Amino acid sequence: MGLVVQKYGGSSVADAEGIKRVAKRIVDAKKDGHQVVVVVSAMGDTTDELIDLAGQVSPIPAGREFDMLLTAGERISMALLAMAIKNLGHEAQSFTGSQAGVITDSVHNKARIIDVTPGRIRTALDEGNIAIVAGFQGVSQDKKDITTLGRGGSDTTAVALAAALDAEVCEIYTDVDGVFTADPRVVSKARKMEWIPFEDMLELAASGSKVLLHRCVEYARRYNIPIHVRSSFSGLRGTWVSNQPQGDQQVEHAIISGVAHDVSEAKVTVVGVPDKPGEAAAIFRTIADAEINIDMVVQNVSAAATALTDISFTLPKTDGAKAIDALEKAKGAIGFDSLRYDDQIGKISLVGAGMKTNPGVTASFFEALSDAGVNIELISTSEIRISVVTRADDVNEAVRAVHTAFGLDSDTDEAVVYGGTGR
Ligand code: ADP
Ligand code: ASP
Ligand code: MG
Repeated sequence: MGLVVQKYGGSSVADAEGIKRVAKRIVDAKKDGHQVVVVVSAMGDTTDELIDLAGQVSPIPAGREFDMLLTAGERISMALLAMAIKNLGHEAQSFTGSQAGVITDSVHNKARIIDVTPGRIRTALDEGNIAIVAGFQGVSQDKKDITTLGRGGSDTTAVALAAALDAEVCEIYTDVDGVFTADPRVVSKARKMEWIPFEDMLELAASGSKVLLHRCVEYARRYNIPIHVRSSFSGLRGTWVSNQPQGDQQVEHAIISGVAHDVSEAKVTVVGVPDKPGEAAAIFRTIADAEINIDMVVQNVSAAATALTDISFTLPKTDGAKAIDALEKAKGAIGFDSLRYDDQIGKISLVGAGMKTNPGVTASFFEALSDAGVNIELISTSEIRISVVTRADDVNEAVRAVHTAFGLDSDTDEAVVYGGTGR
């Protein structure tokens, strides 16, 4: 029996009962003869509550202090979980990300893991302990400051530890039974997949399917760590995410893997930009220097009379204030008229490797949206994905329409959501 890494998300440890339930599952894995490393998220919506609190004292909180605050959430759950396990008569020790050897760069709020040195975890395991590690956090290599990995980052902690410890599997326990063809909170007829390749899961995650974080899937693919996404509330087998299906994992040769949606982004429009070389470069250099990742970009055709154009781009809402601030400061140097900020947008994406060879997919996608009366504001595509931006209010209906149009609706089980608030 080898080493397993299990990750429990916030909804799985939302209260004392949840922590005790999870503790039993962990102890069962240990009793089966595994060495067990557990990565745990903050309880329930703790991280959101801490973010709200920070916002009440400062509109743009300092990154270092913000990270220090947010990591407190995972400290609470890791200590409680270790206590609950000990109460069941098994040895457990909790570790912060820093103690577990999670070394990151120094970009606060979305640090990247650059090394994992899990010496203390190995020792704890060798001494017969279950090791509990606080997810979503690390320590920066140069400044030795506490960092966080971005929302949902505990998934990445789990896969990074699984790679560093050469685990046989990384199990991600959550509040749904696996990866579905759409978010079960929106589409009750979504279907659970038995297996999904890394490639498709990467696109779904990048498009907002928060069941797995994009960076976590990237990491798993790079180190070839199979992920088993499953519910901590049921005993059902979940979805395997890996290179190749194994054993009896069923493979469906569907053209489309699923539909993802995302309402966490906002749109910035830079109005009245001179239509000459270097303008877009100046705008996006300003955004990059503020450490902000952008998603879609569109430049309108300039009006001949004015030779001015508008450039729109989307970015995480959480970076909205920072982006506006940075652009305002650079307004004189760049030379635009004004900025518009719209946080009432949503993105819908259709993902599937079969898209490469099926020319009708794009047309069917737009037809489904048009039949649902949904207006499209921006479009972007990759080889295996097509995404559109719409009004946020239209997103749920659009997802259901597209899911049905591509024949993804299940005619048997209704997808179960066991917990969480969907926040
Ligand atoms: P955790 O707290 O366990 O990390 P998250 O809320 O981050 O849980 O992720 C699980 C949630 O992801 C589910 O409750 C579901 O609403 C959402 N989700 C979005 N897309 C999908 C999908 N394609 N399959 C399964 N869940 C999805
Ligand atoms: N607690 C963090 C969050 O809510 C990290 C995680 O849950 O993965 O984003
Ligand atoms: Mg998550």
